[in-house]
Parts: sequence; structure tokens; C-alpha cells
Amino acid sequence: MPAEVLEKAQQELVDWRGHGMSLMEMSHRSDEFLSVRAEAEQDLRDLMGISDDYHVLFLQGGASTQFASVPLNLLDDSQCAYYLNSGQWSKKAIAEARRFGRVQVLAETRACAPEASSWSLGDVNDAAYVHYTPNETIDGVEYDYVPQTGDVPLVADFSSSILSHPIDVSRYGLIYAGAQKNIGPAGLCVVIVRKDLLERCSDKVPAMLNYSIHAKNDSLYNTPPTFSIYLAGLVFKWLKEKGGVEAMAKVNADKAARLYAAIDNSDFYTSPVHVAHRSRMNVPFILPSPELDASFLQGAEQAGLMNLAGHRSVGGMRASIYNAVSPASVDALIDFMQQFAHQHGEG
Ligand SMILES: *Cc1c(COP(=O)(O)O)cnc(C)c1O
Repeated sequence: MPAEVLEKAQQELVDWRGHGMSLMEMSHRSDEFLSVRAEAEQDLRDLMGISDDYHVLFLQGGASTQFASVPLNLLDDSQCAYYLNSGQWSKKAIAEARRFGRVQVLAETRACAPEASSWSLGDVNDAAYVHYTPNETIDGVEYDYVPQTGDVPLVADFSSSILSHPIDVSRYGLIYAGAQKNIGPAGLCVVIVRKDLLERCSDKVPAMLNYSIHAKNDSLYNTPPTFSIYLAGLVFKWLKEKGGVEAMAKVNADKAARLYAAIDNSDFYTSPVHVAHRSRMNVPFILPSPELDASFLQGAEQAGLMNLAGHRSVGGMRASIYNAVSPASVDALIDFMQQFAHQHGEG
């Protein structure tokens, strides 16, 4: 979370904008909250250039709930869902979709994204959608292209890279993103869905997972996570003040370039990811020996650099340099890395 956003939320926490109570205490049907929700949606539409052909939903259950909601709403018995498997998160999405219908994997890669030329839908006529994970958070793998799927809707899990660079929403049938990386607090999930796809949502889909029901109710079918939506709205305002996603993209590209250069220019650290598919948000790197990991993490924490352990499933280190991570913080990490390498034997 950007510090400015947390400070603003702190100022408004007890007495929200002179209303004598916290926003948390207000009804989700109050005019105050309705305006907060509407403004958050409009700001997100402005930031991402989302047209009226799409609904914007603020849902609960993080991105993982969408692993089920997507097939439940968009896949029927006569169809097949096609997935690109490029890492840990797409693997989870695939495993969940298999519970609900026919699933085929078009390509499977690790430490890189599948090359655009290495897979195609061919002439299948049973495709409900194609799903991919543009940025694999755990593996540090990012696609350098948008998959071409013709008339078949493209579904993307943008949890870890939404709002970090411009996205041409019109190329997607559905975009979803858990909030906790680039949007706001954990638990909230943003879903951007093309309106015509809602015709597919059957009555059998549980109401809380049903896109059509949430769309008809402006994400107020039940009590939404009001405070999380408010915080997300503050982040959207912060992004607008910073110049929007184009400006963010420049800052992020620069942060990532400097960190990868520090890794590549050293004999000590290595990047496990194919150069063309290195993530601008999640930068994994490996020390010469796993025995050094604990002392690296300890030293980093002492220098105020937190959360650098790689995901428990892959090990090594991983720096997540989301929008709220300043260039100065990345520089502090690079300084620490150089110092640590020097102390542990790099020439
Ligand atoms: C973090 C993450 C998820 C899981 O999000 P939850 O909110 O924990 O369900 C899914 N996909 C990607 C790409 C992620 O980065």
C-alpha cells in the first residue's frame, strides 16, 4: 500500500469526512458508501480505459475464488476450456477448473512463457474461453505478448500486474485480479467482464459466484467488503495523481531494469527466468548456495528490506516490486545485495 494512502485512511478512519462515524460503520446502502463505490469504479475505468461494454465488479474471496467462478459461469457441458500453464498460479487455476468441466492445456512451460508460435487453438469449435496468467507471481514469469484467440474470449488472471502498465482491455473477455498486490487490501477481487458473456451464467451457479447476479446488483448483492473497496478507491486516486498507468509503467520498467542489471552484472546472484519473459513485478534471484539464504534474509530485514524469501514452493529469493514500492526502496535492495555479495566472496 502506498504510504500516502494509509495516512489518508488513518485521517478518515474514525470520522469519515465529517460524518461523525467511520465508513466501516455506515450501511453499504448509504449514499456515502454508494458514492465511494461508484467513484472507485469510475476511477478504475478511467485508469484502465474500460469501456461500457464491460462490467466492473468488486467481489470477495480473492483471486482463488475466480479459479472456480470462471468455469462455473463461462463453461457449459458441450464446451472445453483451454488453459496456458506457465507456472504455479496457472496450475492452480487449471486444477480448480477441472472440477467443473472439460479442460485442455494448450502449452506448459516453467521459467518462461510459452512462445506465441508454440501453441494455437487450431480449428477447435468447442472452446468456451482461453485462460492465461500474464504475470506468474511466484515464478517471476511475464508474457511479452497478448495471446491471440480469435473470437474465443480471452480470460486473464492479472492479480500481480494489473495497473502496473497499460492493458488493452478490449482484447479480453474477462480480467480478474486479487487486490492485495497492486490494488489494496487482501480479500477483495476486481472482475472486469464483457457484458455479452453474462448470457452464459446459468441459474445453477451459486449466487455469490454468479457474475450476472453481481452485475445486476452493482456488486451489492450482499454486504460487500466496504472498507476494502474504499481503500482500493484511495489507491486509484493515488495512481491518477501519479500520472496513471503509463507513468507507473515507466517507473516500474526502470525499477525492474536496475534490479535485473544488478543481478546480471554480478557473479554472485543468478536469475532463473528466461530473459524475454522476466517479470517487471516479481524478481526471483538465487544465491550461490542455499546455505546463504537465511543470513541474506536476516541481513536484509536488519536493513529494513522485508518479504524477500521466495515462495515456499520454489525457494531462493524474490523481490516483489509492486506499484507501491518506491525506486528508492529498490536502490536500497540493490545496495544491500552488493554489500552482501562482497562480504560473501564476490570479487
Ligand atoms: C496472489 C495471486 C493469486 C491468489 O490470490 P488470493 O487473493 O490469495 O486468492 C492468484 N493468482 C495470481 C497471479 C496471484 O498473484
